[in-house]
Amino acid sequence: MNDKPIYVTEPYLPPLEEFIPYLEEIWESKRLTNNGPMHQKLEDALCEYLGVPEIALFNNGTIALLTALQALRISGEVITTPFSFVATAHALTWNGLKPVFVDIDPNTFNLDPSKIEAAITPRTTAIMPVHCYGNPCNVEAIQEIADKYNLKVIYDAAHAFGVQDAGGSILRHGDLSAISFHATKVFNTFEGGAIICSDKKTKQHINNLKNFGIASETSVVAVGINGKMSEINAAFGLLQLKHINNAIKKRKEIAQFYYQALRETKGIKLNFFSNQETRNYSYFPIIIEDSYSLSRDELYEKLRSHNIYARRYFYPLISSHMMYQNTVNMGALTNAQSVSEGILCLPLSSELSLDEAQKVCSIINNDLLPNGEL
Ligand SMILES: *Cc1c(COP(=O)(O)O)cnc(C)c1O
Repeated sequence: MNDKPIYVTEPYLPPLEEFIPYLEEIWESKRLTNNGPMHQKLEDALCEYLGVPEIALFNNGTIALLTALQALRISGEVITTPFSFVATAHALTWNGLKPVFVDIDPNTFNLDPSKIEAAITPRTTAIMPVHCYGNPCNVEAIQEIADKYNLKVIYDAAHAFGVQDAGGSILRHGDLSAISFHATKVFNTFEGGAIICSDKKTKQHINNLKNFGIASETSVVAVGINGKMSEINAAFGLLQLKHINNAIKKRKEIAQFYYQALRETKGIKLNFFSNQETRNYSYFPIIIEDSYSLSRDELYEKLRSHNIYARRYFYPLISSHMMYQNTVNMGALTNAQSVSEGILCLPLSSELSLDEAQKVCSIINNDLLPNGEL
């Protein structure tokens, strides 16, 4: 009775034969990593595609976040969101920093700037917001607070590949932005990530940090790490970049289909941001409200019984995990808590067909499925 499984996301894989010439080039050059030709080409190509001044590639987004915090010598407490992937807070904790969770705006799912000031203490040195699902944070309000209290801003921009606002790339905001190219993200290099910065000096510092702190054959200038992206990953990124506009266009078609099919459904709240032309359609979150016929978890299970694997991103909240529980006052995170309990991200990828999207919507709307099944 079940068709092939439908996952929340499927990686975009260009035809294999298109990748062979890249591999041949690597084999010929015998350069496998350490800022090789593919790595340099991908940095240039991404600066141009994204419209950012400087980008330093990494082996994954988490090491990029860790390194961004090191690059700015962040210490003490950092204000962040509980409604994110757990790597956001882990990156702080691994740097010996204390994450201070502040509530989100229930309409954007991003850190609520009006609640940040109350969480600032003499130990606060930075804010680490997340452009959740690729929805831009209120960057102006966040920067205003940062300026007032002399705080750094490091964006976890893992979801924000290609997202723009009126002034250009969303990645230009704050002191640094870190992005992920993991297989599940809009643009992927299997594993990968990057830090976006605005000047060459910072980029050089980050380059040193991601290569053990080595500045030259005989000088180590910082306690660095191995954060380098390999040539294979960089080559895949170059190939993927050729197809990325098409892949995002397909995502947009699915997102618009969902929007039309679900906008009238009682008890389903959409967060589509249809007025923003410059999104990447990385996720399609819906909120299951009390007036819907099933609870969020019942709908999640019903979809699973039809081989459809929607995901409860982000549930539980980061602050609910064992290692963070005792650091928070959950009473102050009411929006995050209620969003987390109602959220469901529907399958969305360039590989999803409209028929599959229709099946997802039929189940949510309690309509007859195309095969006559209810
Ligand atoms: C994916 C993700 C990360 C981690 O990126 P990796 O490349 O998987 O290490 C960090 N933060 C958020 C919000 C993410 O979604």
